[in-house]
Amino acid sequence: MLSIVERCTDQKVKEIFMTQTSRSHTESVSSGLPSLQHKATGRPYPNKTRPLASGPRKFGYAIVGLGGYAVNQILPAFADCQHARLAALVSGSQEKMRRLGKQYGIEENHLYSYEDYDRIAEDPDIDAVYIILPNSLHAEFTIRAFEAGKHVLCEKPMAVTLEECQRMIAAGKKAGKELMIGYRCHFDPLTHKAMAIARGHDLGALRMLKTTISHMLDPADPLGQWRLNAKLSGGGSLMDIGIYGINASRYLLNDEPVEVRASFAPKEKSLFKEVESTILWTMFYRSGVISEGSSSYDACMTSHFSLIGEKAFLDLDPATSYWANKVSLRQSGYTQTWSASMFDIEKLNQFSAQLDYLPISIAKGKLETATAEEGMQDIRLIQAIYESARSGRAVATDWSR
Ligand code: NAD
Repeated sequence: MLSIVERCTDQKVKEIFMTQTSRSHTESVSSGLPSLQHKATGRPYPNKTRPLASGPRKFGYAIVGLGGYAVNQILPAFADCQHARLAALVSGSQEKMRRLGKQYGIEENHLYSYEDYDRIAEDPDIDAVYIILPNSLHAEFTIRAFEAGKHVLCEKPMAVTLEECQRMIAAGKKAGKELMIGYRCHFDPLTHKAMAIARGHDLGALRMLKTTISHMLDPADPLGQWRLNAKLSGGGSLMDIGIYGINASRYLLNDEPVEVRASFAPKEKSLFKEVESTILWTMFYRSGVISEGSSSYDACMTSHFSLIGEKAFLDLDPATSYWANKVSLRQSGYTQTWSASMFDIEKLNQFSAQLDYLPISIAKGKLETATAEEGMQDIRLIQAIYESARSGRAVATDWSR
């Protein structure tokens, strides 16, 4: 079998892996999944703002948008990366960008405003951009990155319409560059454990899935206010956090629904004028499985998935947290008794593993998870759920037919 270096057709990425062959990355390179080198060192209270040590050439990312998620989760995660490094910053705030540039050792010539973003084309240190902007800006900044000849990692939701998703995919194909979506849970070993159980024999035939995800949107927090603006967000809690439940229903059931039905909460706080806070949906599968999901911006923080089979019950609680996910398998007896096995899996840094996955996939010539097609299918299902909630009717989702 050809090695990753021999297979790689992207010359720049090939050089990265050639300089790293002496390091023992075989395990993570072969699967692309987190290895023990993605250890979650010292988090969730990170203070990893030191400049990154210089070493062999790594895959350079420009981070586009320096809001809460970028600053608190993604920038510190480069410290635990094996193949990726922070190469540039793109922001609307010169002051914030200079400050973070200093913290992370990024020189002034690698700092870009949104207006001069297209100049990244001339920056050889940037191999990819990571777009962490409000949802409705994902398509524009992805397409501009492809036109600049860069690969793209784009946050979820991929975009706000199906048509935007199609344009992003077409632009990537035209540029010959990869498009990956920021589905970080795919890089959490706990999610992998849950997937393995869901696809194994422990649960017996699958019957029901329930995904619940919520948090309180803080009206006083200036960051995140775009989430209440339909033009910038494309939707409410479903678009932002309910999407985790939609995506999980696909990776846990390994199936696509044929019909959805949905309802908005009948009464909403006045804060939610343009987008929904709370929504409930049901998805029906040809196999007879039913999956029920809900999301809310007006309830305490939950992220709870449960998959119920004829023999046992798989519980993820929390299911999508940054550092504390838990998976258990419960068997029930006929006499009101339950036994639960909790899986104790070492916590690894899902953010770093996600950042490393793109260069590994480019080198291997194929992205196997968190693909643009997966992102687009989630948007298609979200649109069907909205259509059902607005019309009060069931919506067919059997698009393959
Ligand atoms: P945020 O409000 O904290 O940051 C948004 C950033 O975009 C800010 O720096 C803001 O200045 C900038 N921005 C640029 N143009 C803007 C405009 N026209 N209006 C408003 N802001 C503008 O948001 P966030 O929580 O960092 O979310 C950003 C993206 O990351 C979203 O797509 C969100 O879905 C995604 N996200 C993903 C996760 C995850 O776990 N994968 C977690 C949080 C956020």
